[in-house]
Amino acid sequence: MLYADHNATTPLAPEVLEAMTACLKDHWGNPSASYRFGAELRERIEEARYNVASLIDARPSEVIFTSGATEANVTAIEAAARAGAAGQVVVTTSVEHPSVLEKVKQLQRQGARVTFLGVSSQGELSLDELREALEAGPALVSVMWANNETGVVFPVEQVGQLCVAKSVPFHCDAVQAVGKIPVSVDRAKATYLTLSGHKIGGPKGVGALYCRAGSDFVPLIPGGHQQAGRRGGTENVAGIVGLGVAAKLVGRKLQSLAAHVLALRTEFERMAREFIPAAIINGAGTTRLPNTTSLTLPGINADALLLLLDQEGICASSGSACLADSEEPSHVIQAMAGKQVVCREVIRVSFGPGNSVEEAHHLALVLNRAVAALSAECPRASDL
Ligand code: PMP
Repeated sequence: MLYADHNATTPLAPEVLEAMTACLKDHWGNPSASYRFGAELRERIEEARYNVASLIDARPSEVIFTSGATEANVTAIEAAARAGAAGQVVVTTSVEHPSVLEKVKQLQRQGARVTFLGVSSQGELSLDELREALEAGPALVSVMWANNETGVVFPVEQVGQLCVAKSVPFHCDAVQAVGKIPVSVDRAKATYLTLSGHKIGGPKGVGALYCRAGSDFVPLIPGGHQQAGRRGGTENVAGIVGLGVAAKLVGRKLQSLAAHVLALRTEFERMAREFIPAAIINGAGTTRLPNTTSLTLPGINADALLLLLDQEGICASSGSACLADSEEPSHVIQAMAGKQVVCREVIRVSFGPGNSVEEAHHLALVLNRAVAALSAECPRASDL
């Protein structure tokens, strides 16, 4: 198998698996228990909290473990919305992950006014548009660090600065940025920041929400004293320990990991451009994550293409794993096009530490063959 869908999920790092297995087999007590078999688990949880905090320049007490990034996003948005007045304004972008978009749409149905900032054809955010939106005194600005479909990186440091100047809380979904580029809650001046275990070599079903000390917070899941009352429920100890180990590993290797995947992507894009001149690399004109290529192949049915790749043992996606079973073209690509798009012509390739340069070459060759096969079937694609 050639796995090139690391923005969807990543394999567990061996060290993570080892630490989690030890937890599940031997350290299975309740971390809230008063005896040592429980207390020692509290220590493991706190060690994980320290590792996650260190990765994003936070203090351990500002990190809350959740069931994943979806829960973390919803918790942050709900917390800020509850602190705001009725009929408040929430500002976000039209290219956020569904976990943010669906939550703000829920607030909209409950009477909030939501401003969806658009993006340029390269997927860039307009800071002028944000400045204007901030004039309304929103209860929250929620802007992602890097886009999961295109890898386009937003200027979050400037976003944070503008928010601080207007005393507006800033939530940043940093799921795709963490472990790929440096992420710092201080540099971004974030009030809330979200990350996910399974995107960084950790397990699924665990994530973290950073909440700046002194900021508004309401637990989404009350009902327990766990995590200082900020998230009820017996902790997912093995998951949290796994996330902690993964955070430590990616923190140590960030630069070399980024250089490795960038080299693979550069090779892949060079070959893809050469073989398929009509292909468009989305966001190529702006800053992108080092591992991600979003490719529009005009006239090519992305679903058929992914099927052909799958038959060759290649895992890539049409953009977002969460929308893989949807018939709809991607909302991100639509926002970049600035109009309704009817075709699904986009595939996403996202490399990870386990990929090799030979795999990047092989992927480009197989892609070329598959595109040629589909072009022969489809007259619109014949000039590819
Ligand atoms: N935000 C972004 C940008 C993502 O890519 C994802 C995962 N696709 C999520 C949030 C949700 O993460 P989780 O699977 O941990 O709920």
